[in-house]
Amino acid sequence: MMSLSKLKRWLAVGACAAAVALPAQAEKTYRLKMAETWPTNFPVFGDASRNMAAMAEKMSNGRLKITIDSKNKHKAPLGVFDMVRAGQYDMGHSASYYWKGKVPATLYFTTMPFGMTAPEQYSWFYHGGGMELMEKVYSKYNVLSFPGGNTGNQMGGWFQKEINSLEDLKGLKMRIPGFAGEVLAKLGASPTNIPAGELYTALERRTIDALEWVGPSLDLRMGFHKIAPYYYTGWHEPATELQFMINKRSWDRLPEDLQEILRVSIRTAAYDMYIQSYHESAKNLEIIENEFPNVKIRSFPEDVMAALRQANQDLLTEKAKEDPLAKEILESQANYLKTVRRWTDISDKAYLNSIAQ
Ligand code: CA
Repeated sequence: MMSLSKLKRWLAVGACAAAVALPAQAEKTYRLKMAETWPTNFPVFGDASRNMAAMAEKMSNGRLKITIDSKNKHKAPLGVFDMVRAGQYDMGHSASYYWKGKVPATLYFTTMPFGMTAPEQYSWFYHGGGMELMEKVYSKYNVLSFPGGNTGNQMGGWFQKEINSLEDLKGLKMRIPGFAGEVLAKLGASPTNIPAGELYTALERRTIDALEWVGPSLDLRMGFHKIAPYYYTGWHEPATELQFMINKRSWDRLPEDLQEILRVSIRTAAYDMYIQSYHESAKNLEIIENEFPNVKIRSFPEDVMAALRQANQDLLTEKAKEDPLAKEILESQANYLKTVRRWTDISDKAYLNSIAQ
């Protein structure tokens, strides 16, 4: 049996070894590479990824360093999911609906036409089962996905002509990508997708009759207000949520405290982007209205909205029939919307209606 003095010496040596070993372990630096879909220094969206990386580094006292490659560097803005999945990058900042061609159920984690507003959708993600469903979709690909910043309600777009009836949608050439484009196509419009850099010229030269981009937060710098007189309110992207992705192996390599720092940085950066978008939209709308009084803000007529809503519903029914996972997600969203919208109606909506002049 070890004598007491021996035991004391042994413990002291052990404690000393631990004292030496622990700080070395604690100071190990973890480096992650992130690919973003956006160009270098892209406002708002790019601010969110930079904010996230800066917060993570500061909170970890420099132990977690995230470098960001913009699309100018990696040249694959719509390849971010594949690059993260393959481990070529540890992380990505993008939007889930870009992957619907590869994994159809990823469509539902960005925004849906006639769907939830940003606060409603955040509630669904974090308290209504959304995160669990997103995990169900992404875990098959060895990827973790988190909400990555919200644009808020997007505008319905810039139009050369006023939309007075369903007839005006027939043959309308509009840049409107994704699911909303499919909805419009059902009503006889011709949706197209055109790269951002070519949008202004396409609208100016009437190659297209209309386009949607984001909202005043990002539309102002594109200059569309100078060349199209009608700015329509939205229906198609009520709460566009970006996405942070992490390769599961890269995540598992991090110690628990850095995982938590990363999780908190992501959640904070997402919230910051939502309020930054709100601020930028408010400020830029004021500029558009003050400096370009000829811009007319309109909402689509009731019958057009009713037809869009019906076309949307028909398409969702088709998607649910094709894929049981889509059905599960759509049912979760529809059920949650029923509960949460009732609250929105008698809180924010009732408040705004009751104080209206
Ligand atoms: Ca958009």
